[in-house]
Amino acid sequence: MLNLVIFGAPGSGKGTQSAKLIDEYSLYHISTGEVLREEIASGSELGKLADSYISKGQLIPDDLMISILDEILTRHLKDREGIVFDGFPRTIPQAEALASLLEKHGTELHAVIGLEVPEEELIDRMIKRGQQTGRADDNAETIKNRLAVYHNQTRPVKDFYIGKDKYIAVNGSGVVDEIFADIRKGIEQATGQKSKK
Ligand code: AMP
Repeated sequence: MLNLVIFGAPGSGKGTQSAKLIDEYSLYHISTGEVLREEIASGSELGKLADSYISKGQLIPDDLMISILDEILTRHLKDREGIVFDGFPRTIPQAEALASLLEKHGTELHAVIGLEVPEEELIDRMIKRGQQTGRADDNAETIKNRLAVYHNQTRPVKDFYIGKDKYIAVNGSGVVDEIFADIRKGIEQATGQKSKK
């Protein structure tokens, strides 16, 4: 299997590069943000609760987020070649839970790809995405909160994985295909796995 986390600040290109990863390595994509947005769109109780955090740029509480992920893994891990985790983990307790959940399912995390993008570029990209897609949390006020949450709660996850020798830093500025070429190189160096294409 090849289990990867795509990591980075909001607006760093995790969704774009995930799409390329799942295609190149035949992986299953789990985007916790997308799962939550689908719940909001369906009008479920979980969606209403999630919206109360997302609209303020805050994180969904760890216990809830971890139980959602556990349920997704139980349903989707079997018979897969691997998973791309996009937007999870965002806190140290989530990173610890991910290791336990993967172990419970008889597998492990192989590498964390960290997309590194300067802050001004992150803000520009999110403002543009908001204009193009109408994504509700891509507005100036919420973006500010999401970046603060990233620095305070999510950034320590990078050091957690550096300490475990799993973090692959990739320059996330520039042309999408060139960034992806660097990701492929990083995966091959770190795990020895080549794409099937
Ligand atoms: P994303 O699409 O990954 O940018 O996520 C959008 C929003 O969903 C975030 O700003 C959080 O409010 C929420 N969210 C997504 N993933 C997580 C997570 N792993 N933990 C807590 N909240 C999350």
